[in-house]
Amino acid sequence: MTAAIIDGKTIASELRGRVAAEVARLRRDHGLTPGLAVVLVGHDPASQVYVRSKHKQTQAAGMVSFEHVLPEDVAQPVLLALVETLNRDPAVHGILVQLPLPKALDTEAVIAAIDPSKDVDGLHPANAGRLAGGLAALSPCTPLGCIILSKSVRPSLEGLHAIVIGRSNLVGRPLLQLLLNENATVTIAHSRSRDLPQLCARADLVYAAVGRPEMVRGNWIKPGATVIDVGINRVTAADGTTRLIGDVAFAEAAHVAGAITPVPGGVGQMTVACLLVNTLRAACAIHGLPKPAV
Ligand code: NAP
Repeated sequence: MTAAIIDGKTIASELRGRVAAEVARLRRDHGLTPGLAVVLVGHDPASQVYVRSKHKQTQAAGMVSFEHVLPEDVAQPVLLALVETLNRDPAVHGILVQLPLPKALDTEAVIAAIDPSKDVDGLHPANAGRLAGGLAALSPCTPLGCIILSKSVRPSLEGLHAIVIGRSNLVGRPLLQLLLNENATVTIAHSRSRDLPQLCARADLVYAAVGRPEMVRGNWIKPGATVIDVGINRVTAADGTTRLIGDVAFAEAAHVAGAITPVPGGVGQMTVACLLVNTLRAACAIHGLPKPAV
């Protein structure tokens, strides 16, 4: 293996430390404690794990964590009324509705109901539009984490050729915009793209956000490239044990890349840390304070 391993666990922990220091400063200098409200509908085990982790990390950063658990069969107006209450609550600076929602609910309408200034998941069309327009916006947490990980090994992304594989609203599209803001040259690929290995081989920065285990092979990677693997895929081995793997064939790619994120221990670690960053930024913006230096 030649690639440096980008240690998401350590980078996320350092980021959480910087957020906690800023939260302490805000409380001391302005009497302001940022608050994050997380809404969970139903009992999806994976979502419950994410929500517990968000709660723990929010409190550890010195912020207030509000948790709202609604039954699987909650009616849309009841969920919208809760969002409206949180929009008006001055102690709440960030609102996150855990996705996916049960099929009976209209996810788009729920996201649209969140006050864009509290939309710490960055999914409200107002934030997506502002990000696409190059304006200040709350952007989705996983792409933010990807940028921080990239800059840990390449402090300037200016002029580099990036490929983003995947065009979801949650990852690929906002990542494209964040990379443009960093002055990278960006190709965005998806399931209809042709000659993906050749497109990939030209890239200095490779972001795989596809949801297909080990789709990106080592011989797609330009020597020395930085590879950020967003994919989280649970696979079952012949003996019945399960493990998490990414969208990149790690062992192959690590022979060619300059630096690479592992799965687990890479991008996944950054998402909640960036949620705390967004909550801190939202609290400062709502109170007319300068953007915090994290
Ligand atoms: P998604 O909404 O399912 O989008 C997947 C994207 O991959 C789509 O744009 C799709 O193209 C594209 N795609 C599918 N097959 C392809 C192929 N053969 N070649 C090229 N592109 C292909 O998924 P997502 O929400 O963005 O998540 C992607 C992965 O990241 C998943 O493994 C997910 O678990 C993981 N994830 C991780 C985190 C984290 O915290 N680390 C956060 C979010 C997501 P089309 O648009 O043409 O269908």
